[in-house]
Amino acid sequence: MPFGYHCEECEDALFFTTTRSELQWLKRRAHIVAEVGKHMSTGLDAWMDEGLEFLEKHPGHSIVITEK
Ligand SMILES: [Zn+2]
Repeated sequence: MPFGYHCEECEDALFFTTTRSELQWLKRRAHIVAEVGKHMSTGLDAWMDEGLEFLEKHPGHSIVITEK
């Protein structure tokens, strides 16, 4: 069952092939993960890059984790 981020203010959602707990982890640590990713030669997992991009597009918005 895919989980995703849903912005309650823009009614925008994006789903990933990862677990709910991973999405919660990324949401809480977005700034740290983005910073670490810059220093990793291999880069981050694709879902992490996409997740960070989504979070950056909705700064300060109410984002919840949703299930498809
Ligand atoms: Zn938004």
